[in-house]
Amino acid sequence: MSNATQLIHSIPVDPQTGSIAVPIYQTSTFVQDAPGVNKGYDYARSNNPTRATLEQIVAQLEQGHTGVAFGSGLAAIDAVIKLLKAGDEILAVDDIYGGAFRLFTHIYEKFGISVRYVDTTKAENVFDAITPQTKLIWLETPTNPTLKISDIAAIAAIAKASGCILCVDNTFASPALQLPLTLGADIVVHSATKYLGGHSDLIAGLVVTREKELGDKIKFIQNASGAILAPFDSWLVIRGIETLHLRVRQHSANALEIARYLEQHPQVDKVFYPGLASHPNHDIAKKQSKAFGGVISFTLKNNTEEAAIAFVTHTKFFKLAESLGGVKSLLCHPANMTHKSIPADKRRAAGVADSLIRLSVGLEETDDLINDLDQAFTSITQKLAVKEYADS
Ligand SMILES: *Cc1c(COP(=O)(O)O)cnc(C)c1O
Repeated sequence: MSNATQLIHSIPVDPQTGSIAVPIYQTSTFVQDAPGVNKGYDYARSNNPTRATLEQIVAQLEQGHTGVAFGSGLAAIDAVIKLLKAGDEILAVDDIYGGAFRLFTHIYEKFGISVRYVDTTKAENVFDAITPQTKLIWLETPTNPTLKISDIAAIAAIAKASGCILCVDNTFASPALQLPLTLGADIVVHSATKYLGGHSDLIAGLVVTREKELGDKIKFIQNASGAILAPFDSWLVIRGIETLHLRVRQHSANALEIARYLEQHPQVDKVFYPGLASHPNHDIAKKQSKAFGGVISFTLKNNTEEAAIAFVTHTKFFKLAESLGGVKSLLCHPANMTHKSIPADKRRAAGVADSLIRLSVGLEETDDLINDLDQAFTSITQKLAVKEYADS
């Protein structure tokens, strides 16, 4: 695991001016000395020095060979799928990010790329599901919003034996906690919108490959399809990465304390947090990651949308919004927000109950966050009591 000193000093000082901050090269093109004779840059879609710096930093951070920066997490995922061709099949984690599901199903199926979903928390399910057409295994660990954990090293061994590429969406853990490439994955993708950016102020995506060969292919796709990250946004991600270790350590410490508080709360039914010993995948989470991140989900004993909505509209510090990984705490109600497009029975079967609430625990003082949740629990009781009285 790269440490904070290594990370901070992997961000170069500008050799030309000594600028300690990475310069933003806000340009579209680069003047050439003669046709094809240039300083390593010709056109800013193909390459830009600010973006290239981010790409080098993130490759080091994930301990891979090549980093490639895109305009969003989904653009990064899209670039990986473009490695495939008609007739190929993807085997994906069943609790997949909704945007990836939409991309696979509504864009790529019509180009002849099929997807099957399996419960990857049991590596043998992956082994059993592989066919000669399977070319890509797609994991997210932890998943969203039920925080399921898959064994990256075990699935990497299966992928290797069957000649499949293993790609891990490492958005929820971040490279401060988990390094899939060191466990045998071939590709890591990120929504850098989340922990890498870290300040809820940009949309960005990253791909990192373990080997040069796949890296060259992704770079070719980046240039050919054009979904690059802009220089200013590249700079913002670099700035976010400078404090990644510090932030993720505190997000994780706050979240563990809040998960323990929720677990003993009389109004809470289930808590989903891989750092709790009660989590079904706690052992593998402990083995493959340094800590457990800042996302927690929980359900209410009063398992109704009404109770969840009363809760999410009564917090002061936890702001009601989609997304995660920023300094400010957020919360959302997946049944009505991120997972609204999934039919209710399918959503419930996937573990997303009507009352499920997802927290992105920020960097505020832990006690303030717990007090905030406490008063939201009180407000559900009051609100539902008033309603019961009115209904009676
Ligand atoms: C947000 C997210 C994405 C998509 O990233 P964007 O930057 O919003 O395009 C992909 N995977 C996971 C796990 C995410 O949380």
